[in-house]
Amino acid sequence: MKVSGDEDWRLMGQDKYLFGASFEFRKYEPPRIDWDHDHCEFCLVKFCADQGEGCFPDGFVTENKKHWVCKDCYEDFRDRFRFKTTDSVHYFEEKAKDK
Ligand SMILES: [Zn+2]
Repeated sequence: MKVSGDEDWRLMGQDKYLFGASFEFRKYEPPRIDWDHDHCEFCLVKFCADQGEGCFPDGFVTENKKHWVCKDCYEDFRDRFRFKTTDSVHYFEEKAKDK
């Protein structure tokens, strides 16, 4: 039986710093004024404040605001990494309603 495979191309040792991490779902905000984007820790999609092409405007960020994870990766890895969420409950409730 396969449980979110170890061979997933997005896995690059993130468990060292993201295992059991707490996340908040929020709009992307650059950490500094001279900084304009970050990448998903897993699939490396871009998060940008200006919502340019190919950029995600929001995602999951760790409490220390250092690591961003996109919605898809968050859902794919939340069980494996035992991710915790703080104020993102609404996101999952909204999603459940869509089904
Ligand atoms: Zn991702």
